[in-house]
Amino acid sequence: MVPASRTSALLEDRHGRFHDYLRISLTDACNLRCRYCMPEEDMHFLSRDRLMTMEEIDLLAGMFVAHGVRKIRLTGGEPLVRKDAGEIIRRLGRHPVELALTTNGVLLDRFLPDLRAAGLRSVNISLDSLDPAVNQDITRRSHLPVVLSHIRQMAGEGFRVKVNMVVMKGVNEFEIPDFVALARDLPLHIRFIEFMPFEGNGWTAGRVVTYRQILEVIGDRYPMEKLQDGPNDTARAYRVPGFAGTFAVISTMSEPFCQTCNRLRLTADGKLKNCLFSTGETDLLGPLRSGLTVEPLIAATIKAKHARFGGQWDQSFEAIDATGLENRPMIAIGG
Ligand code: SAM
Ligand code: SF4
Repeated sequence: MVPASRTSALLEDRHGRFHDYLRISLTDACNLRCRYCMPEEDMHFLSRDRLMTMEEIDLLAGMFVAHGVRKIRLTGGEPLVRKDAGEIIRRLGRHPVELALTTNGVLLDRFLPDLRAAGLRSVNISLDSLDPAVNQDITRRSHLPVVLSHIRQMAGEGFRVKVNMVVMKGVNEFEIPDFVALARDLPLHIRFIEFMPFEGNGWTAGRVVTYRQILEVIGDRYPMEKLQDGPNDTARAYRVPGFAGTFAVISTMSEPFCQTCNRLRLTADGKLKNCLFSTGETDLLGPLRSGLTVEPLIAATIKAKHARFGGQWDQSFEAIDATGLENRPMIAIGG
């Protein structure tokens, strides 16, 4: 991360957490239809006038940076389906931050010049199955070969490439060792993500494959050693000795990391969420368009952050009834 230069109380919550990592969603549209992310029914996409413009994104990003944000990740929806994504990436590259991107990888090759111009070196690419039929069933599209080739290309071009796999019981859990094997010869960082509940994604506790279960599966197949995690890391990293890359587990559900959370999310329509699971969100775009000062709104939103899971549950994940949860679908938040 870029070293802290300016920090202010604005980004600190009541629990002493300083939020120096902002995720900005560029759009809620997508060229895939992943079942765990986009509801099959009742998905209403934002009209263009409700999306933050490039200038508004740049302006808001600048405000957060001025108060101490040191890392910005662009996400969505699929950020790269937005027509001006390349220009936005270049603009944000001018801020003194570590810039990163989360993408499904389908359109990635077109943006290499923009990523380079912006100094963006770290790309997270989502890939949930290496089996064409399973991949198609999850994404409801068939782009597996192109995504695989872009993963190899990006690693070959020297980018830091993380591969995000959402592990779901009975769906793709059998492929965990195959994903670890992707890091044998390529310097990829494979990240197994515990399946999380969002509106319309069919989540039940029984479909979660936990951190411990994932480690057990990998341990049956490979020797492994624990790597040192950073203070705000959500991924618990490991290495198979002799492999070029690493693997990690994001244990949101079974072993949460709320205590060290440093993340904020800005949705594509300019709403600030202080937690992925917050029920509330604060409109920054409306006031910004009306010429109002938005810093007090940012400060109040951060101060209101709950200790864990947006205040929606405190029990272990096995006891969660997802029908009682309140949130946008993941595709409309920005993961
Ligand atoms: N379209 C881009 C992509 O797929 O990488 C960026 C947006 S996507 C919402 C960001 C990340 O959220 C992806 O890695 C995706 O796998 C993850 N994600 C979406 N729904 C999820 C869920 N229910 N549980 C865990 N991770 C999820
Ligand atoms: Fe689109 Fe990414 Fe959601 Fe899949 S996970 S539907 S690629 S936004």
